Amino acid sequence: MCLLIGVTAAFDEEEERCYLSRLYVDAVVRAGGVPVVLPPLPLEMAAAVLDQMRGLLLSGGGDLDPAYFGEEPLSGTGKVSPRRDVFELALARAALIRQVPVLGICRGMQVLNVAAGGTVYQDLVLGVKQPLKHFQEAPRWYGTHHIEIHPGTKLAGIFNVSRLRVNSFHHQAVHRVAPGFRVSAVAPDGVIEAIEAGAHPFGVGVQFHPEGMWEKESVFLGLFTALVAAAGGKRRPLEKW
Ligand code: MN
Repeated sequence: MCLLIGVTAAFDEEEERCYLSRLYVDAVVRAGGVPVVLPPLPLEMAAAVLDQMRGLLLSGGGDLDPAYFGEEPLSGTGKVSPRRDVFELALARAALIRQVPVLGICRGMQVLNVAAGGTVYQDLVLGVKQPLKHFQEAPRWYGTHHIEIHPGTKLAGIFNVSRLRVNSFHHQAVHRVAPGFRVSAVAPDGVIEAIEAGAHPFGVGVQFHPEGMWEKESVFLGLFTALVAAAGGKRRPLEKW
């Protein structure tokens, strides 16, 4: 069986170029799925494209336009890609309503949260007292801060530990968790490091970058194998999210 997993590409608005790290592609392949790289497409195509996929991976990247969670841009907001925002938010909403297994990584977790009605700190130093260093200068494969994984969550089932050292390459963080989602891991400074959808076969977001770590620490491949395993299951679309 060929389990197609849509993987969203980043888009450079200046260079007019789509791109995606091979680390995401290789992780999905190793997990048993077939990655299909999705460039930012017209909004109207999102649901139809997703219907051809068995799972969705929202990859990492720049910042979401804060207009999508009702805020004006603060000076801490970084690079924004309007094309990517529109398409990924539509994909995320479609994945929630159609119950398509979805893994959101870094920006992808924020896309999931905002698509479902949550908010993001435009810059985590604005909302977190004494934050840890969340934009590490160590190599990508190297975990620099711990997370506490909440028992009974999907994430706890995947990693089978309550404490895990992860990499960190973000300056934004989930603020208000979307209705229907719960927090599944936090950093020692309280920054939300993982969320998951309640009434969904697999709707998981992580703030760290498992694609950068699995080649050195195989435990991180577990997120991708869980996504592909869920993609192989049956699904029953909802009326609304
Ligand atoms: Mn972090």
